[in-house]
Amino acid sequence: MISFEEARAQILASVSPLGKQEVKLTKLLGSFLSEPVTAAQDLPGFDNSAVDGFGVLVSDVHSATADSPARLHLSGVIRAGDPGNLHLAPGNVVKILTGAPVPHSVDAVVMREYCEESNGYVYVRQAADRGENIRRKGGEFRQGQVVLQQGMRVTPPVIGLLATLGYSSAPVFKKPRLAVIGTGDELVKPGRPLACGQIYDSNSYALVAAAKGLGIDVCRSYLARDDFDSTANVIRLALRESDVLISAGGVSVGDYDIVKDVLEDCGVHGLFWKIAMKPGKPVYFGTLDSKQGSRRKLVFGLPGNPVSALVTFHELVAPALRKMMGAKSVLPQTLLVTLGQTLKKRPGRLEFVRGSLVLEEGAMVVRPTTGQDSHMLGGLSQANCLIHFPADEEQLPEGSQARVDLLDWSH
Ligand code: AMP
Ligand code: MG
Repeated sequence: MISFEEARAQILASVSPLGKQEVKLTKLLGSFLSEPVTAAQDLPGFDNSAVDGFGVLVSDVHSATADSPARLHLSGVIRAGDPGNLHLAPGNVVKILTGAPVPHSVDAVVMREYCEESNGYVYVRQAADRGENIRRKGGEFRQGQVVLQQGMRVTPPVIGLLATLGYSSAPVFKKPRLAVIGTGDELVKPGRPLACGQIYDSNSYALVAAAKGLGIDVCRSYLARDDFDSTANVIRLALRESDVLISAGGVSVGDYDIVKDVLEDCGVHGLFWKIAMKPGKPVYFGTLDSKQGSRRKLVFGLPGNPVSALVTFHELVAPALRKMMGAKSVLPQTLLVTLGQTLKKRPGRLEFVRGSLVLEEGAMVVRPTTGQDSHMLGGLSQANCLIHFPADEEQLPEGSQARVDLLDWSH
């Protein structure tokens, strides 16, 4: 049995990013940039107004107040989309709307709330500093400057920024194709009647959802029975159609736990089986170096208990998938927070306690959720983090600082 840290290090050492491709904006969400993105132009591209107001010369309004406004002639209007090539002479203002170009001759834009328009004149009730309410050309980015780093996840603001720069596509890493296999004679698809002793298959659905949450588009699911030949058939088919195979169940030490043997019969090279973690002890990990030219495939045999399957996915599979997808940061986000309740266990295994993290009187406090057994999805459903209870510790006292991994199923 190896430590959790060693297991994750071995998995990550076996993974490298997939190839690169150019992808349209509308299909980019959830990918990772394979190149740094530079500004194709200055941003903003021209001086423009941050507000609806009036363009003024600072010298015309320097003594303007609410009681003694400056009376200035309205010389025109510049709307968003106008070219804005107008010269503002002393004694004049120009109405400028938000996002409209601000001519060079305009010193500042006074918000319309401080101005009153009447019969071709504008009463300006406030002085202005040079540059006030003007967003300068290149004020955010200069042409050629790196604006997004390689390995960044494409989020909605990243897509917005790419569009703002005029890019209709971006270079990103390819995403792996996944196969998820549920195993067990007891499993029935939800929606069908259950016979005595049967249960509904939840792992296939939860693991596919977890993969989709990570941004993976191709994820097929299969069900295998607890006999060698049918499991082998399903695994061979799934391996052909995927870069990463995740099975759940049948990997422990029971009489029908055949997944590990079947995988190795299919040519998978095992790197480890069993990790000193809870939940998730029987995790199996291996690789398959298939035919020439095709990539090394990753194979995870996750435990069948639904909480174990999802926790091991979150802690071990997701980092590997992120690395394949070219992510710069692949591990779950961690925080140090105050433990709101004493935790106890036997020493030996790193325990991931399902936790609920809340803000209490200005401090982040974490407590275990109700339902900590590895078949209790209720406890995981309520959790927003996993509390690290280190392998060698037997007690974590209330009030002490605990490390938590944030549970984020969409990242
Ligand atoms: P196993 O490792 O196959 O012995 O499975 C451990 C436990 O998880 C057993 O109680 C199984 O019935 C349950 N289990 C295995 N696969 C699934 C699944 N796909 N959905 C729900 N429960 C499962
Ligand atoms: Mg089973």
